[in-house]
Amino acid sequence: MISVEVSDAVVIRARTRSGEPAGCTGCGQLSACSHSRSVRSLADVTLADRPLRIDLSVRRLYCENATCPKATFAEQVPGLTVRYQRRTPPLQRLVEDVGVVLAAGAVPRCFGF
Ligand SMILES: [Zn+2]
Repeated sequence: MISVEVSDAVVIRARTRSGEPAGCTGCGQLSACSHSRSVRSLADVTLADRPLRIDLSVRRLYCENATCPKATFAEQVPGLTVRYQRRTPPLQRLVEDVGVVLAAGAVPRCFGF
């Protein structure tokens, strides 16, 4: 399951460990009670001048907190995944920084003329 493929892009296929607890995204309670798995495709910063994609198999876990509104939740990997994001945090920061630079350059400067 874990592999690295290099062509026009670098693709890393990996999976999170089974049996380790993860925090519920609704209430924060730890759970290791697995429901299923799914693969998230994450774009990351380039590697060796090639686009880098990480296909990460993550678990969906049951939340065992009876008062939590979530019955299940997808585990997150700190520093790698963020809910609803298709980019890793480093790539997201890079995209935001480029956006700020581009926006700053697009605003006409007023020199009082
Ligand atoms: Zn919960």
